[in-house]
Amino acid sequence: MKGLVLLFTGNGKGKTTAALGQALRAAGQGLKVCFIQFIKGSWQTGEQKIMALLKDRIDFFVKGSGFTWQAEDRDELIRETRKAFHFAEDKISSGEYDMVILDELTYLVKYGMVEEDEVVEMIRSRPETQHLVITGRDASDGLIAAADLVTEMREIKHPFSRGVKARKGIEF
Ligand code: ATP
Ligand code: MG
Repeated sequence: MKGLVLLFTGNGKGKTTAALGQALRAAGQGLKVCFIQFIKGSWQTGEQKIMALLKDRIDFFVKGSGFTWQAEDRDELIRETRKAFHFAEDKISSGEYDMVILDELTYLVKYGMVEEDEVVEMIRSRPETQHLVITGRDASDGLIAAADLVTEMREIKHPFSRGVKARKGIEF
């Protein structure tokens, strides 16, 4: 059967954690999963730590550069980001995976590192039965059109807005 493209977007919390849940579910059913995170934060996240225990079931990669998109050396940032994108393209086209997860991919388009057309082409040309999961705020119209399922996480309330900082086990 044809694979599906799932897109989790919006400004509310829950996009990356939804993708992680999807990865767990798929791996539990014996699907071979590749999980790629495009933004490298300053903390080692809970998912990075636990994925080491699941390494036979889920291939997990953290790619791309620092948390900020206002890096001092923009050329270097673009180079690194494009390298990360090509890495994802290779994983997708390898045919090795039943599901590939591209966490925070939307930012690559948003910040002009990757053209929307390139992403749409990557989606279209993937192995036919492969599922893709894409996350990130501000998904572009072309991405939304290319997806089979789009869920918008909408913030109703977030403790951050009353000054509560990111917490271990909740945000990272
Ligand atoms: P999570 O990783 O918890 O599922 P997310 O992937 O939906 O969240 P991102 O947009 O990737 O969230 O944001 C990255 C960080 O910002 C995460 O630590 C997340 O918990 C936090 N965050 C998400 N939504 C909000 C919000 N509305 N206000 C403040 N911080 C947020
Ligand atoms: Mg996220």
